[in-house]
Amino acid sequence: MGTKKYYLIFILILSAVTLVANIVSIGFKPNPAAVIAVVTGLCVLIALSVFLNYLSGTISSLEVISEKLKEGRPDELHMRGNAAIESLLDAIRQFSADSVQETRDMEKKTAEYKLELQLLTKEKENTEAIIYSIRDAVIVSDEYDRLVMANAAAEELFGFKKDPDVSISLEEFIDDNDFIELVRQNRQSRQCHVKHEVTFDGDQHQRTFDCIISCMKDNENQVSGVVAVLHDITREKEISRMKNDFVSHVSHELKTPLASINAYAEMLVDGEAEDQETITEFCTIIQSQAQRLNRLIEEILNISRIESGLVKVNKECLSVAIVVQEAVKMIESYAAEKNITVNLPAPIIHDQVNADKDMLSQVVINLLSNAVKYTEPGGNIKVDSEVNESDKIVHVTVTDTGVGIPPEDIEHVFDKFYRVEANKKYAKGTGLGLNLVQQIVETVHDGKVFVTSTIGEGSTFGFDMPLATSQVEETVK
Ligand code: ADP
Repeated sequence: MGTKKYYLIFILILSAVTLVANIVSIGFKPNPAAVIAVVTGLCVLIALSVFLNYLSGTISSLEVISEKLKEGRPDELHMRGNAAIESLLDAIRQFSADSVQETRDMEKKTAEYKLELQLLTKEKENTEAIIYSIRDAVIVSDEYDRLVMANAAAEELFGFKKDPDVSISLEEFIDDNDFIELVRQNRQSRQCHVKHEVTFDGDQHQRTFDCIISCMKDNENQVSGVVAVLHDITREKEISRMKNDFVSHVSHELKTPLASINAYAEMLVDGEAEDQETITEFCTIIQSQAQRLNRLIEEILNISRIESGLVKVNKECLSVAIVVQEAVKMIESYAAEKNITVNLPAPIIHDQVNADKDMLSQVVINLLSNAVKYTEPGGNIKVDSEVNESDKIVHVTVTDTGVGIPPEDIEHVFDKFYRVEANKKYAKGTGLGLNLVQQIVETVHDGKVFVTSTIGEGSTFGFDMPLATSQVEETVK
């Protein structure tokens, strides 16, 4: 408004000066031409002053507008008097109000998106944490068969380490074309929850997996990827195989004596045994086969009771040397029949173990009777028992001068029903005695069985058993 005032003063002064100059120039003599010139000049000056006044008003309004806009306060624009400026201002006000609203909406939306993003990130992290904690191997691939995600179990199974930000084709990570083909086929067939059994060659042994493959579909029902979950069933397979083997072994082992009993009983019924001697012979065979059957059933039951944890164990603190002495006494007459001598260890005082007496006796008797069975007449058996204080164990060995065991059979002699082919001719047996020894020592008493043997020279079977806790404390004192 100040500028406008100066313009007006300037114009008035200019008009006055011009008027005076004109009057002076015409020398106060009225001359129509001069009067017209003076009046015209005055009109022009007044028009110019009005125009300049308008211009200065407009400029100063624009200055204020720009000032207010710069300060971000368009609401404070309240100008009057100029219609163009007023409508411009209204437009600016409207535009600015819309912009402010839009900005506010956008800020609100951005905050919502940020929150949504945070939630999604958290959800993704949770899902990944769950997938990572699963013991089964999980592999996720996209619609182009590129690896999107793999948990630790999958990385361990296939032997790779995935960079979470890089997705590369499955082939780059997984060295098993059959499995990759399976994933591809499933993606193409768009199937869900299809179960397959797959095997992978590991470093030491083959591993078998139950593999469930599912297609992931997007909102438009298009396949967006594949999830494969691999559950290791190697152990279950092994157990099922062992069970089948066990059942077929048992039925086979039971069949042999039963068939023999049946055959001799039939001969007796048919009157094929004409004299008393033959009758006695047949009956003896039936009796011995029945005893074998009984032994077999007893041992099978003992082993399965221990394996299933159903056996009643009465552990007590006892001396191994005493158990060994008692077992030797029981076996002596059998050894004497074959003219085999049995050497006993010198009694050890501090050899207490926490064990079930009947079970421990069974272990020593089984080892001693095997030593007698597989040693030629005139041989020798030596029983030793010593305390290893540093390892806190009692070390028991039964060494014979028997036929020995071929090296290829050594690692199997503790297996159920395993009988060394080369030694079958020396004695009858079930192939269960050593397995029972192993179960009693290792499963029930936390001990360890062992064997060494040389063909033609003899064998040493034995076991280590932890010293009783009270015994350990006494030894430490
Ligand atoms: P079995 O009833 O056949 O004796 P075991 O389980 O006791 O069954 O023994 C398994 C196999 O180990 C036996 O068949 C035998 O061939 C072999 N064996 C066990 N002890 C000895 C030993 N002291 N000397 C030689 N071979 C042995």
